[in-house]
Amino acid sequence: MCLPSGDYRCRVSDQESTTRLARVVRTLLVVGAGLAATRTVAELRERGFDGRIEVLGAEPLAPYDRPPLSKHLLDRPEPTWLRDEIGADLPALADEVRLGTPAHGLTLTRSGVDVHTGDGVRTADVVVVATGAHAVRPPGWEAALTLHTAADAAVLRAALVPGARLVIIGAGWIGAEVATVASAAGVDVTVLEATGDPLGAALGPVVGALTAPWYASAGVRLRRGAHVVELGGNGVALADGTLVQADVVLAAIGARPTTAWLGAALPQEPDGSLRVDEHHVVIGAPRSVRAVGDVALRRSPRHGWVPGGHWDGALRGPTDLVADLLGSGEAVVDPAPYVFSTQLGHELALFGVRHVDDEVVVRGDPAGSDGWGALWFRPGTDQASAIFTVDRPHDVGAARRLFTAAGLPSLDRARVRDPSVPLRDAAR
Ligand SMILES: Cc1cc2nc3c(=O)[nH]c(=O)nc-3n(C[C@H](O)[C@H](O)[C@H](O)COP(=O)(O)OP(=O)(O)OC[C@H]3O[C@@H](n4cnc5c(N)ncnc54)[C@H](O)[C@@H]3O)c2cc1C
Repeated sequence: MCLPSGDYRCRVSDQESTTRLARVVRTLLVVGAGLAATRTVAELRERGFDGRIEVLGAEPLAPYDRPPLSKHLLDRPEPTWLRDEIGADLPALADEVRLGTPAHGLTLTRSGVDVHTGDGVRTADVVVVATGAHAVRPPGWEAALTLHTAADAAVLRAALVPGARLVIIGAGWIGAEVATVASAAGVDVTVLEATGDPLGAALGPVVGALTAPWYASAGVRLRRGAHVVELGGNGVALADGTLVQADVVLAAIGARPTTAWLGAALPQEPDGSLRVDEHHVVIGAPRSVRAVGDVALRRSPRHGWVPGGHWDGALRGPTDLVADLLGSGEAVVDPAPYVFSTQLGHELALFGVRHVDDEVVVRGDPAGSDGWGALWFRPGTDQASAIFTVDRPHDVGAARRLFTAAGLPSLDRARVRDPSVPLRDAAR
């Protein structure tokens, strides 16, 4: 098996086995029927794959988009179908789509891969694992709702009547988005954040703290350093002894890759993610097993290990997967990691991967009205590893372009502080 860094001989043998694999792929099974699955099937057909494609989806619904579940929780009661959103109609592209049919296990065989379901075993030359993620709900938090599926959204929507007291645990991307729409609809919203800062996991404490004032401006109560010890009928008990009264509690403390169904069939990281190479081959498994979307921890030549969990990765990942699977010989695209969010009156974008030891530079004035941003640099260097923008559409395109080259972009730290300097002009 090739090591992650891969020497030349290893890459040659990878290429040879890819070409061999491309010749023998006649049947392909995609497990999961979300964004990454739909894009994988669309990409295969766009590139002329005429073999048999079968798809298994756990939910009984046609593929739909998840970002509107929070951003349009209250004004769009129907799911936003991926057929309309990205123009890919899964049932029309695949030979068979079995919805409401979760996979329960996977076995590697000499001739291919077996996937087990409640009504039998499906066998294919290649299996693509695209089972996404699920919301975290710790034991004892059964009284809390979560928001990950269209069914979750329906339950939450019905509970959010004007005047209801909503307590959201977690000031991350989804907590902030739900707080925004609920508060605008007359719901009384309190957000509890255990760490000191909103978006702290994504942005770190310095930049995360700069988003805290947005809550009060949007009519939302934010309690920082609020450690939940118990959930009961009346609300949420905190470690400092206070009870925050609630009619509805939403746990928005993150998501984990949905890979428990694989058992020990494939190597998994402690959080359940599957490590994949640039071509989405699961590391430690044969090349006939691929993973893409939220389940995958992808090796990026530019960024190192890129976790799933964001829409753009599920949309673009299938390009490199399918190009390699079909033996195209194309160079990897290595898409820039990209997260977007609309929250508390602001448009946010984050490109790249921030490391905890990075040095941060703030761009513009977070208290001003012209938008601002932040850049993270590898310690002691001018190499930018991540760029965050708030209400600065011009910086969004520039940031994406900066992360298209082979390595991290080199930027002048002094120039990026000045928001009047276009980001591209700060490149060294
Ligand atoms: C409320 C919400 C808002 C979001 N907003 C943003 C945003 O603003 N920006 C952003 O970048 N990202 C956002 N995301 C994340 C983004 O939606 C995901 O990264 C993206 O949907 C991942 O696509 P996927 O195909 O990997 O997984 P999914 O879309 O989750 O699809 C996986 C599918 O696999 C199915 N499945 C699971 N287990 C099995 C099984 N055993 N057998 C068969 N099928 C199975 C699931 O039912 C699901 O349909 C949001 C997510 C949520 C929940």
